[in-house]
Parts: sequence; structure tokens; C-alpha cells
Amino acid sequence: MLDSNEIEKLRPARNIVNPDIPFHFLHEQEPDVDGNLQSINTIFLTSKECAFKCLMCDLWKNTLEGPTPKAAILKQINYALNQLPEANVIKLYNSGNFFDQKSIPPSDYPEIIERLRSYKKVIVENHAKLCGQACVDFNDQLNGNLEIAMGLETIHPDVLPRLNKQLSQEDFKLAAQFLSSHGIDMRAFILLNPPFLTDEKESIEWTIKTVQFAFDCGVDCCSIIPTRPGNGMMEILQEQGHYVPPSLSALEEVFEKSLELKQGLVFVDSWDIGFLSKCPHCFEARKNRLNQMNLEQKKYQPIACSCH
Ligand code: SF4
Ligand SMILES: [Zn+2]
Repeated sequence: MLDSNEIEKLRPARNIVNPDIPFHFLHEQEPDVDGNLQSINTIFLTSKECAFKCLMCDLWKNTLEGPTPKAAILKQINYALNQLPEANVIKLYNSGNFFDQKSIPPSDYPEIIERLRSYKKVIVENHAKLCGQACVDFNDQLNGNLEIAMGLETIHPDVLPRLNKQLSQEDFKLAAQFLSSHGIDMRAFILLNPPFLTDEKESIEWTIKTVQFAFDCGVDCCSIIPTRPGNGMMEILQEQGHYVPPSLSALEEVFEKSLELKQGLVFVDSWDIGFLSKCPHCFEARKNRLNQMNLEQKKYQPIACSCH
């Protein structure tokens, strides 16, 4: 099993980022649990790198090497919101853990909370093991509701420990119980084809089992992410036969089956999924179908093509 130092040594260079500017922001739409379409402003904050070093993670590429300077996060939020339209939900994704005090300094909380007054929901990312009283206090002070997005990745008993996530199925369950007992909503990030799950059928099964487990823990929404190469480590694992990129049809299958559970919202990450495609004829239509299914939360007729 590889440790954090070994994983870091294999990384390519990080991108040059500015602590006063978010590295990306966008406006999107997503249905809520009642099926009503919500307008969302999503800001990808530039902050200190996550303290965990998961094997498959590439989020460190747009992070700072040291602690985030005080007041920088508010500047970034203002920078993005000055250019974004109105919305009722905001996602503040910081490529790590919102409640890591070195990523988002707690001294910034009051001004951030004030700036978010008009939003009825605030969604942040946080590792399950870092979900504690700070989340409850932050939620209490928000005008809207807090939702915490946590990486669950997979519940496969041999794979999860090998991802270096330092998370067990039980840790996730305990965090979910804690957050839901305090009225905080939750979403889970779940991987399709994590490293060490190379058989397509098995990988599909474990993704669906993981979605089911997340819903059983009280999560409102599961976001399925096709595991990508690109962080140095994943290329090596691929060469060694320990990682196989998922197919587009596998992503379609896990999405359809997870929606059939009818236990909550299911989204697939359709951003930058060109690497899943083997066929230029049907790719765009299939990607559009996934986007429609994200919005409508129901299965659409499959796209016919001679390639599958
Ligand atoms: S906890 Fe999340 S952000 Fe941190 S290394 Fe793991 S996948 Fe990346
Ligand atoms: Zn095709």
C-alpha cells in the first residue's frame, strides 16, 4: 500500500494559482429533492491543499502549498459573485475540506456568512472525519441551510483502505449520523472504477452498492464520478493493470440503476468525460442524455449507435 509521501513524489507540477482569485466559477442548475430546479452558483475556491492524499485525487493541482491567507476567501467569493447571476444555492468547493482551519480560516467565517445571506442553501466539501461542531456552528449562523458533500468513494472492503483516504465505511456512517442529527444535509461523492477494481461488472456492482449505502446513511444526494487518470499515480496504476478507465456504457448503467433505487437524488459528473468515449458518432448525444437525466432525475431512452 502506498503512503502519502510516495503518492506526492509521483505528481506532476501543480498549476499556478492566485489566492485572491477563485480558480474557476460557473452557474448551473440542479433539481432539489422535491424535483424543483434550483439555480446554483458554483465557486471553485483557491485554498490550501487538502491534508489527505488520496491515491486518485487530482484536486491538489489548483491549490496553495501553504495556509490560505486571511480574508482571501471573501475576496474570491466577491470576485466570482460580481460576475455571476443571481441564484438560490451556492456551492463553495475548495478542493479539500471547508472545515480545515488552514484552508478556510475561521476568522473569515462571519464575513463569508454575511456575504451568503441571500442563498437558501450553501454546499461545501468536507472529509467525513472533519465533520464536527464547527459544521453545526456554521450551519446555525447561516441564513440558509448547510449541505456537506463528503467523499465516500467506495465501500469495497479491500479497495477503500488502499485509496489512502484514511476513511472507513463506519467513519462515514458516524459522520452522516452526526450531521443529520443536527439538520445538516449531505451529499456523497462515489467513484466508478476506483483503482483496484478493474473488472467492469464488479466495478458497476460496487458503485451501486456504495450509492445504496450512502442513501441508507441518510445522504440526500449521490454524485457518481468516473475515476480519471491525470494525477501521475493513476497512470502508473494503469500501466500496472490496477486501474482501468470506465466505459461510457458503465457510467450510463450505474446512473440508470441508481436512479431506479428512488432513494434520493443521483447525479453523474459529466464534466470532461471525453476520456470515456470510444466513438465520435454517439458521444455528444450520450453526454447530452446524461445531462438531461441529471436535470430530470429519470431514465431517458438510450442512444442507439452501431458501436455498442
Ligand atoms: S479527501 Fe478529497 S480533496 Fe482530499 S485528497 Fe482525498 S479526494 Fe482529494
Ligand atoms: Zn457510437
